[in-house]
Amino acid sequence: MEFSLGMPAAGEPTTDKLFDVIVIGSGPAGLTAALYAARAHLDVLVLTGSDIGGQVALTSEVENYPGFPEGVQGPELVQRMQEQAERFGARVELDTITAVDFQQHPFVLTGYNGNYLARAVIVATGASPRKLQVPGEAELTGRGVSYCATCDGWFFQDKEVVVVGGGDSAMEESLFLTKFARQVTVVHRRDQLRASKILQKRAFANPKIDFIWDTVVTEILGEEKVEAVRLKNVKTGEERVMPIDGVFIFIGHIPNTGIFQGQLEIDERGYLVVDRRMHTNVPGVFAAGEVADPIFRQVVTSAGMGAAAAMEAEKWLAEQKAEQEEREQERAVTA
Ligand SMILES: Cc1cc2nc3c(=O)[nH]c(=O)nc-3n(C[C@H](O)[C@H](O)[C@H](O)COP(=O)(O)OP(=O)(O)OC[C@H]3O[C@@H](n4cnc5c(N)ncnc54)[C@H](O)[C@@H]3O)c2cc1C
Repeated sequence: MEFSLGMPAAGEPTTDKLFDVIVIGSGPAGLTAALYAARAHLDVLVLTGSDIGGQVALTSEVENYPGFPEGVQGPELVQRMQEQAERFGARVELDTITAVDFQQHPFVLTGYNGNYLARAVIVATGASPRKLQVPGEAELTGRGVSYCATCDGWFFQDKEVVVVGGGDSAMEESLFLTKFARQVTVVHRRDQLRASKILQKRAFANPKIDFIWDTVVTEILGEEKVEAVRLKNVKTGEERVMPIDGVFIFIGHIPNTGIFQGQLEIDERGYLVVDRRMHTNVPGVFAAGEVADPIFRQVVTSAGMGAAAAMEAEKWLAEQKAEQEEREQERAVTA
């Protein structure tokens, strides 16, 4: 593998230029990786994807990111992360990667604007909560529609909320929401839960949780914020409107790993497989944040993984450079 450092001149197009590190994704994991890599004097390009700032840019207030005792608006938090990375020289560009080639080095990433070349890649493409895909959902996300009870439960003190789903996450999050909400109504499309028995037992025993079975949410209603849901019984076809303050949707997560099929190891749930040091199965390709994390799914944990991935990328690049210099010295001696 040939290896040489060289910086594209500032302002030059970024396509067809060789970067030390390309970060795919501009959420907390990607921007933190970019900050750490840029501060290590690496030449870094961040490709934002269509969701600039990632999932947290969708939410209003973030109250559990350390350093902001009064809380911080989600978009402001990621904007600050971006500015911090740019201050140390990271370039942030709007493009979405549609294909990758990790079989050759430098790695080739293909986006709508062209090809990008990288000595090391940090994948931080996140995961998307599976959507209900009903009218009102997109419009009211962050205004009563949420995909994260840990994040948004606090805002529903003494309110009534609906939880959609019947798996472990739906039960865990319902139980968590009872700390805040007056009433949590689980709406499930079947007549029994998929969740583990222990979680079911806890949920059934909780007086704040009730269940509506065989029912789906067909519409979320409200002007400025959620005001009601339209429900439909899948067995009888009966419809009704239920007034409600919030809708929490837990019908699964979809890690954004489609473009890495056949290139990187992916587990049975679709998450990238990394070791404890954020290495994927391809040397020089690292992954951080929700794309490789089915468990914690928080800003702080994603940012932490981003920092770790960048530190490992820096170490890997230095090793490659040292090996190349050794090879060149050997060649010079034998020439
Ligand atoms: C409504 C909501 C509220 C939340 N509130 C909180 C909270 O209060 N506290 C908290 O800790 N967590 C909260 N979370 C969770 C938190 O947002 C996530 O854990 C965190 O954003 C994950 O960061 P990430 O960088 O791994 O991925 P993401 O934030 O998902 O970012 C992924 C990035 O990858 C990009 N991308 C994807 N595919 C491509 C591609 N092919 N090419 C280029 N780029 C691509 C996207 O555009 C995006 O920029 C909330 C989540 C939601 C949805």
